[in-house]
Amino acid sequence: MRPVRFNIHPKEAVTSTAISITEAPEGYTGDGFFTAKLSDVVGLARKNSIWPLPFATSCCGIEFMATAAAHYDLARFGAERMAFTPRQCDLLMVMGTIAKKMGPVLRQVYLQMAEPRWVLAVGACASSGGIFDSYSVLQGIDQIIPVDVYVPGCPPRPEAILDGFMKIQELVGQESIRRRNSTQYKALLDTYGIE
Ligand code: SF4
Repeated sequence: MRPVRFNIHPKEAVTSTAISITEAPEGYTGDGFFTAKLSDVVGLARKNSIWPLPFATSCCGIEFMATAAAHYDLARFGAERMAFTPRQCDLLMVMGTIAKKMGPVLRQVYLQMAEPRWVLAVGACASSGGIFDSYSVLQGIDQIIPVDVYVPGCPPRPEAILDGFMKIQELVGQESIRRRNSTQYKALLDTYGIE
């Protein structure tokens, strides 16, 4: 009988030297103090503590499960706290084919999320309807809600989903804390009939 082998993390992977500390925002430092712009500090905190709401309807959802599991480990980005409660989440991850009948449900979930909120369209179906150029399938979720980042692929590999997630982190980190009150943002929501 062949011996069973387990992949165990090497010891150094769990020592403190393997932990990287996120970079501090630009600011002024001196003896015993550090100052920075409030929006940079808020951005730093937000981008490293995103709470995703996985809205998974089909195959891309399985890729997301792999992304969240141990090998790809979405938790490394501070995003291990999945929730299916829109009021607690700030990132809506839409993964899979969205039928037109499902559209109002997706929109309702988006509307229930508090600001600030971001949307990641994962895979060809969520981005554009994918291969389903059909009367029953929504040809991209951006027909009903605004999307911040699109991840191409059918299905996208977990690396691509992580890349999309990191693009969201960039947006979150750089976003002014007042952007959500800006006229441009309100105009964008207006185009979707959202107040
Ligand atoms: S993009 Fe491809 S893999 Fe993803 S849900 Fe659509 S058909 Fe499935």
